[in-house]
Amino acid sequence: QEYLSAIEQRNPAINGYITLDKAATLAEAQAADARLAGGGAHLLTGVPMAYKDVFCQQGWQSSCGSKMLGNFIAPYTATVVQNLLNAGMVTLGRTNMDEFAMGSTNETSFYGATRNPWQHEHVPGGSSGGSAAVVAARLAPAALGSDTGGSIRQPAAHCGITGIKPTYGVVSRFGMVAYASSFDQAGPMAQTAEDCALLLNTMAGFDVRDSTSLERPTEDYSRDLAQPLHGLKVGLPKEYFGSGVDAEVQQAVQNAIQLLQAQGAQMVDVSLPQTELAIPAYYVLASAEASTNLSRYDGVRYGHRAAEFANLDEMYSNSRAEGFGSEVKRRIMIGAYVLSHGYYDAYYLKAQKLRRLVANDFQAALAQCDVILGPVAPTAAPKLGSDINDPVQMYLSDIFTIAVNLAGLPALSLPAGFTRNGLPIGVQLIGNYFTESRLLNVAHQMQ
Ligand code: GLN
Repeated sequence: QEYLSAIEQRNPAINGYITLDKAATLAEAQAADARLAGGGAHLLTGVPMAYKDVFCQQGWQSSCGSKMLGNFIAPYTATVVQNLLNAGMVTLGRTNMDEFAMGSTNETSFYGATRNPWQHEHVPGGSSGGSAAVVAARLAPAALGSDTGGSIRQPAAHCGITGIKPTYGVVSRFGMVAYASSFDQAGPMAQTAEDCALLLNTMAGFDVRDSTSLERPTEDYSRDLAQPLHGLKVGLPKEYFGSGVDAEVQQAVQNAIQLLQAQGAQMVDVSLPQTELAIPAYYVLASAEASTNLSRYDGVRYGHRAAEFANLDEMYSNSRAEGFGSEVKRRIMIGAYVLSHGYYDAYYLKAQKLRRLVANDFQAALAQCDVILGPVAPTAAPKLGSDINDPVQMYLSDIFTIAVNLAGLPALSLPAGFTRNGLPIGVQLIGNYFTESRLLNVAHQMQ
């Protein structure tokens, strides 16, 4: 009740939630109450939760920020959402996002931009900007996000909260609308690393319905939270400290270094030489996968269908022309181009080779340290409208987040102070495969 009335009062100003269903929320809350009274409750029973619109959830509009799926009520629930519902978490609503998770500012949403709760004329980041904004505005204790190229970590940084992208394959992708399947990974966004650990415990696990889900023993991601950081080796990639990073962001990273040193951690200089090439590699590969994944939206079985058309081909093209926004169309065109005969070797194949080099860079760096520390984004949250008309500028701002997705590594963003103008700044921790509990430990000790 308390969250619902706060949402009613304060959501209109930030547009973080795009779908609410009071009756459904209260019914879930009542079921949680009964479970709490009757015994057999889970640690998270009754805790409210917000879901990014990318996750299918039975009975809820699951539009992925697009007009294309504006009429889509999911007939089934994503595994990761189901895992949280099984624990008794209560759905507060569905959060705004860049259309099909393509974007870094939340401005490509068909449902209007979300605003940064700290300063409304600034963006919350993207694509999980709605999730970050509602947690930061205290309109949810936690939210689910997805991260294909930084979409959990970057909005978490811009809104002053904590978010983790797990190792690729740790969390099921079943029921999460596909953008770039070999990159997409869901993760929790919350106030603290400790909250993220508890959520990840409940979200993660093998799923037969996701062919890239990893079959591993279950872990307690909170097990290392209390471990002291004495002797921890922290890698500082020289490419993450160069020009192009705003002075206030650099200062926040320096403060984080001092905080770690004060706890006995040791800094090590490392290098990630392919950092700049990760951007073109990612935008070639992610667009290629997107153009394939989004070919399913043809207006036939579900999704938007144009009202007027003369034949089947025209039904497809009119439905897609009307249903997709311009950023999605741009990605589909780039993707179709780089996959086409004659260009495949020059672009797609070359980008795949770069992807391997980027992953190798991380292995070389992580052989010298336990975790890598750096900025999440080169600047704090930009003003609304400043990036959206220059897509290349927007792509360049992903420089510190997307390499992690190319390599499939886990990475976490945690708050690290504010700019003089009062906007949050985040720092990023990157670890080797399956070191989530270590990343959460380091973040917890820094909080
Ligand atoms: N900004 C990146 C993109 O537009 C990442 C988005 C994401 O992680 N979903 O593709």
